[in-house]
Amino acid sequence: MQSFRLLAIAVIILAAATFALAPLRSIAEPPPRVLADIAPVHSLAAQVMAGTGRPDLLLGRGADPHHFQLRPSQARVIKEADLIFMIGPELTPWLDEVLRRLGAGERAVSLLHAQGTLLLKAGGGERAGPDPHAWLDPRNAGVWVDHMAQGLARVDPERRATFAANAAGAKTRLAELESAVAARLAALGDTPVIVQHQGYAYFARRFSINIVAAISDSAAHPPGARHMRSLREMIESGKVACIFTEEGRDPGLGESLAAGTDAALLPLPDPVGSAIPPGPDHYEALLLALADAFAACAGAAGKPE
Ligand SMILES: [Zn+2]
Repeated sequence: MQSFRLLAIAVIILAAATFALAPLRSIAEPPPRVLADIAPVHSLAAQVMAGTGRPDLLLGRGADPHHFQLRPSQARVIKEADLIFMIGPELTPWLDEVLRRLGAGERAVSLLHAQGTLLLKAGGGERAGPDPHAWLDPRNAGVWVDHMAQGLARVDPERRATFAANAAGAKTRLAELESAVAARLAALGDTPVIVQHQGYAYFARRFSINIVAAISDSAAHPPGARHMRSLREMIESGKVACIFTEEGRDPGLGESLAAGTDAALLPLPDPVGSAIPPGPDHYEALLLALADAFAACAGAAGKPE
């Protein structure tokens, strides 16, 4: 009986101690709420946040950054985010508007305008702004993971060392990725190709892909009749080996251009990798998928459909 009472007392003391200690365990701050605009940016942020938390993704599967309508649930996610990583208003002018309206501009980091980003101009002459598709150059991704680590450290100084170490690991991975992509594209050489929209210039510059034209511009506006005629002339004169249609966009334009010519019609992932699951491995998978898709032209060139 005595030992039973002792046991009961011990249980009570243990429970009290657990209760008293509980607040100690939650002293570490919860990780910051981080939001990324597109899946490739989300992937890089997920790598930098590894072991601390997961970022949210604004534009999930099938969402086209150029043409987008925000849902109320997405406005709520923007409102609640401590930190927002986004390409910039050149890619998503509608998001810029929303951020201003919600007073969230201060919490947003525009990667296109981050120091060290290697920019290309959008087509359309000297006064054109930057082409927003800068994430397709893995060296920009390498610049951005450092900016992400710094931005995260500002809102969560306790985890500064983890973010910095993760960014360093991500950069090692990106350097390996760049070599792997270059190796897969070696056989393509300077084979001339046409893409569906002007969204691949950064990838083409880094890996020397000879994109001679795009059907629509860097904001994915529909092409005019004159532009279509000049493309058709270029293709008929045999100056184009492959025409790439883009996943998620109408293949009709590419099909009509290729019809009756020697140019091969091939599929290409869209620049945000809509068909690739989001997560830390998304960025790598997207670049490798692009490399394989472009490389397929080396085998298809000159063969009529
Ligand atoms: Zn685009």
